[in-house]
Amino acid sequence: MEQRRILFIGAHPDDADILCGGTAIKLSQAGHLVKFVSVTNGDTGHHILSRKETAETRYREAQEAAKVFGLCEYQILTHDCGIEPTVDIRREVCRIIRSFAPDIVISHRLCDYHPDHRATAQLVQDCAYVCMVPHFCEETPTPDKTPIFAFSFDKFKEPRPHRPDAAIEIDSVMRKKMEAHKRHNSQFFEWLPWIGGDKNFDRSALDEEGEYNHLLKWEARFIADNNPGVRERLMEVYGKEKGEAVVYAETFEQSPYSRTVSVDEFQAILEGKM
Ligand SMILES: [Zn+2]
Repeated sequence: MEQRRILFIGAHPDDADILCGGTAIKLSQAGHLVKFVSVTNGDTGHHILSRKETAETRYREAQEAAKVFGLCEYQILTHDCGIEPTVDIRREVCRIIRSFAPDIVISHRLCDYHPDHRATAQLVQDCAYVCMVPHFCEETPTPDKTPIFAFSFDKFKEPRPHRPDAAIEIDSVMRKKMEAHKRHNSQFFEWLPWIGGDKNFDRSALDEEGEYNHLLKWEARFIADNNPGVRERLMEVYGKEKGEAVVYAETFEQSPYSRTVSVDEFQAILEGKM
């Protein structure tokens, strides 16, 4: 079996973790290479730490999470939150894609709620074409194989809902995914509770199961029965009995802006079975 290379390019140092963490664990365990990139350093995402302290903390936490996921690298670019999809950053993203030579590049959709997610989506979508144009970023050669580009799950219904071309059950690795999330203390246990209105949240009041249940709240988006088409896809992929039993599934949609393959091949690559 070929060793696959999967690249997730998110806006912040935890987007890949949330949107692709279970899939990354399964791929890494099957011997494939998974790399996460965050285009911003996440430096506005804290209510107490300075921007510099936040960027340093988020970097350190991401590296700890990377070890749990089994990533080959968690690269964090040095842009502040508030990025724009400029040609300079497009070049940077293009060089990262070419250097890693991935089978699949995953990112956000353009209809996401967060301006950084939309800017990242635009940067990656722009690279879907130019990463194979030899005279763009001439110093970094184009890869031998055109990557497949894909979108991670989002809940937005306009202009149309996310389509689950691939559905990866993550129940079997949920404990490990939450172990990785625990490394992002400044995010899941400080900033997100605070911005969510829980100003007095205190991690030290939680036991191990309490931490697990707290982190599981961010997985609600992946409950198979809550998202159109996911249960049907799971039953196609895993068979009726196993497909019906899955609770949580990360899903991915192929982008039309680069090479596409059959949904079964797309699923098999993301399952680490091809
Ligand atoms: Zn984000």
